[in-house]
Amino acid sequence: TSFGFRTVKTGEKAHLVRDVFDSVASRYDLMNDLMSGGVHRIWKSVLLDRLMPRPGEKLIDVAGGTGDVAAGFLRRADERARAEAKTPATATICDINYEMLKAGEARADMAAFGERLSRVTGDAESLPFPDKCADAYTVAFGIRNVTDMDAALCEAFRVLRPGGRFFCLEFSHPITEGLQKIYDAYSFNVIPWLGEQVADDRESYQYLVESIRKFPGQEAFAARIRNAGFARVKYENLTGGVAAIHSGWRI
Ligand code: SAM
Repeated sequence: TSFGFRTVKTGEKAHLVRDVFDSVASRYDLMNDLMSGGVHRIWKSVLLDRLMPRPGEKLIDVAGGTGDVAAGFLRRADERARAEAKTPATATICDINYEMLKAGEARADMAAFGERLSRVTGDAESLPFPDKCADAYTVAFGIRNVTDMDAALCEAFRVLRPGGRFFCLEFSHPITEGLQKIYDAYSFNVIPWLGEQVADDRESYQYLVESIRKFPGQEAFAARIRNAGFARVKYENLTGGVAAIHSGWRI
C-alpha cells in the first residue's frame, strides 16, 4: 500500500471537513454502525449490486475513507475472477484525509487484497489520476463534503474511460412527510448525542447532520451529474430517500 502526496486546501469548508474526519477516523467504522444501526452496510451492498464488479476492472473510490466500497468491489470481482479464471480487479481509494486511509489500512479484512488495493491522498476536486484511467468511479457519503461539487463531478468524468460508470451513494431527502419527521427527530437529537457519547465530539456530528440537510434533492443532483457530461443518469431511493444511489455513464 502506498500513500501518495498530501493535498493542502485552503477553503474554510475543506479545513472543517479535514478536522471532522481527523477527529473521527479511529472510531469511524464503529460510529457508522451505531448511527445507522448497520443500515449503511445494506446501502453499500446495494451500491455493489448496481456496480456489478467484474474481473480485470479498475475502480477509483473517491472519498473512500476506510475502504468499505473498494473492499466490497474487490471481494465481488474476485468471486467472479475465480469462477471464470480471469484476471483480478484492482481498486484505489483516494481520500483527502490521511488518518482515514491509515485507519482503513489497519483493518484486518483489508490484508487479503495486497497490492491490488492502493491508497492515495488527494482531493476529489483535482484527482491525482490521469484521464480515462478507470472503468468505474464510486463516491459514498463523500461528495456532500466537497467544497466544489461540480468540479468533483467533472473530475469523475475526466478519469473515467468512455464506457466507464459513475456511482454516488449519498444521504438524500426522505420522500414522505412521515418519514421526514422521524428522520428529523433522529438526526437532530440522536446523532449529535451519539457523537458526544462515543467520539466525545458533538460538533462534528452536528456538522454532518447539517451538511445532509443542505445537499441538493434527488432530481437537482441528477441534473448536476448530467451537466458534468454524464449520460443515462438516474437515481434510486434507498430507505424511502434517506439515501440515494445516483449513477451515470461516460459514453
Ligand atoms: N466512503 C467511505 C464510506 O462510505 O464509509 C467514507 C465516507 S466519509 C463519511 C467521508 C470521507 O470523505 C472522509 O473520509 C473524508 O476524509 C473524505 N473527504 C472529504 N472531503 C474530501 C475531498 N474534497 N476529497 C476527497 N475526500 C474527501
